[in-house]
Amino acid sequence: MQQDEDRNNLILIAEDEDTNFFVLDLFIRKSFNLKTIRVVNGVEAVETFKNHPEITLVLMDIKMPVMDGIEATRRIKAINPDIPVIAITAYALAGDEQKLRKAGFDEYISKPVQKRELLRKVNNILGLSE
Ligand SMILES: [Mg+2]
Repeated sequence: MQQDEDRNNLILIAEDEDTNFFVLDLFIRKSFNLKTIRVVNGVEAVETFKNHPEITLVLMDIKMPVMDGIEATRRIKAINPDIPVIAITAYALAGDEQKLRKAGFDEYISKPVQKRELLRKVNNILGLSE
């Protein structure tokens, strides 16, 4: 059953700002019935990824303390090149998306996060029903 499959996915959300995390978490959990786990910096993201092989998708804020999302994604991709990582970034500069894809991100969402865009991109990657 689709709902049971959805529950087998654990989404790692790396976001240092509470408000941003709350929005991402709400959209993901309410729309897909997925479990989420939060970290607040890149070091925690890498450690948590190592400790949770059931993680199937990472939402990665770029600007975080201790270690940024770009370095954390490099390390996570070194552990598992197949894990999808979506960059969540306030930087809306031209050419940013290309730079992020070069850094290994599979997708890119700029803040403020639009629910429809987030759900579409998560669904494209995980193949879930809303
Ligand atoms: Mg941040």
